[in-house]
Amino acid sequence: ATRSRAHKKCTVIGGSGFLGQHLVQKLLEKGFTVNILDVRKTFDKQGVQFFTADLCSKEDVLPAFQDVSVVFHCASPAPSSDNRELFYKVNYTGTKTIIEACKEAGVQKLVLTSSASVVFEGTDLKNGSEDLPYAEKPIDYYSQTKILQEKEVLRANNPDENFMTVAIRPHGIFGPQDPHLVPVLVQAAKSGKMKFMIGDGKNLVDFTYVDNVVHGLILAAENLHPNSPICGKAYHITNDEPIPF
Ligand code: NAD
Repeated sequence: ATRSRAHKKCTVIGGSGFLGQHLVQKLLEKGFTVNILDVRKTFDKQGVQFFTADLCSKEDVLPAFQDVSVVFHCASPAPSSDNRELFYKVNYTGTKTIIEACKEAGVQKLVLTSSASVVFEGTDLKNGSEDLPYAEKPIDYYSQTKILQEKEVLRANNPDENFMTVAIRPHGIFGPQDPHLVPVLVQAAKSGKMKFMIGDGKNLVDFTYVDNVVHGLILAAENLHPNSPICGKAYHITNDEPIPF
């Protein structure tokens, strides 16, 4: 009984955030018990235990990983925060801490929310596959730390030791409670920054509905087992065709 209970328990790092909250909701519907590890607590829900802590502190992270089989990593400083030190500390160093804590606590699966920006060099990509190399010149420092983070997570994959990792790479995520994409666009429009056009108006951008990202994360977790071909790999996720922006 202990085993099956442990199997149904997972931790969502960044579970108070936009994507994290949608993921938590779906996991609860699927019968999981959920721990949330986040620096802030934005809601209360039955079946959810909150661990209000910084993911950079291993001793604070470990209690949130006890008896947990899957950890979903959905935390990051907001891309718009433009704080290089914080991006490096949380996305890179903090992710290394999470990997160590997973191993110490006996977590079997780590599912990372990466970003499609890890392969973006500033030129349009259409049907960009996972064979694309990491960007040599990422478009910003946030993306640079998402590359460092993803590399660490995928490198940590070790099915022989019963620790398996995978990364999902969405681009822009939209849906209810989105704090970044649409509000930032609206703010830009209000302050007159939308009067300019960069490029010829045919630049491509890719958006994914939040529940589709959640679906991808859960499919990744469900299919991560020692003999699975997805171990240690990254997957792009999108709705359909990219649209002109
Ligand atoms: P969000 O800002 O809504 O949520 C992130 C959460 O992480 C917040 O609740 C925040 O408090 C938490 N957090 C930040 N630093 C932390 C720390 N040091 N310790 C513990 N918790 C911390 O962002 P989101 O849109 O839900 O993004 C989730 C993930 O998806 C991120 O990894 C992000 O890089 C990735 N992503 C987002 C988008 C998008 O368009 N929103 C696109 C591609 C990838």
